[in-house]
Amino acid sequence: MAVSTGAYIRLVGVARTYEATRPVEALKDCHLEVLPGEFATVMGPSGSGKSTLLNVIGLLDRPTAGVYWLNDEDTSRLDERARTRLRASALGFVFQAFHLISHRSALENVELGLVHRGVQRRERMARAEAALVAVGLEHRLGALPSTLSGGEQQRVAIARAIAGRPLALLCDEPTGNLDSRATDALMALFHQLNSTGLTVVIVTHNRAVAEGSDRVILVRDGMVTPDRLVGR
Ligand code: ADP
Ligand code: MG
Repeated sequence: MAVSTGAYIRLVGVARTYEATRPVEALKDCHLEVLPGEFATVMGPSGSGKSTLLNVIGLLDRPTAGVYWLNDEDTSRLDERARTRLRASALGFVFQAFHLISHRSALENVELGLVHRGVQRRERMARAEAALVAVGLEHRLGALPSTLSGGEQQRVAIARAIAGRPLALLCDEPTGNLDSRATDALMALFHQLNSTGLTVVIVTHNRAVAEGSDRVILVRDGMVTPDRLVGR
């Protein structure tokens, strides 16, 4: 699955405050750049703002201050429709919970992910199959999620994400439900996808996942420290 160029992600002074009983500053004055084709991991304690950061990058959430540029587009200028369109065309998501439809086959789960993108059925089936081949599940196209291992279910979720031909893959604790062997296999897959030019951003608690990435972005109390390398 060739990708011409990955996404270029740039956050300038981004903050996100939640209006709860009292305001929660989940992100404060964040400056961050992820280059096209980069493999970045995001680490930090629980509650530090990692998911909020990924949701902002994924256009699932809006900053309350600052500007998020995606491929040189100022996303703060986009209305909801344009954000949804950009999200669908540029971004793929993988979460800790696989979020597969239990009574649908692997192929159908991936194919259904393309329906709202307006892709015709024949093309959807072809792309879904190619994506499942790309993640090494060509022998399980008709399998229901319950008959797949955790690692295989996550591969279906990854296939669903890449079938949309994104420029960036955004993953929130994708190996959180997997054992170390399945984790290693999944990381090899992420690196293989990255080698085609896809930008990859992975939130993780697992140092083994962070090792081998181009850079580690540390998040602490809503603030990012972008350029510290693992082992320094
Ligand atoms: P992490 O992913 O690093 O565990 P989060 O980004 O989920 O952290 O959360 C960062 C902070 O924002 C935490 O204090 C959390 O309680 C708070 N928070 C997250 N989502 C909401 C929300 N919808 N409403 C209010 N507070 C929230
Ligand atoms: Mg989180």
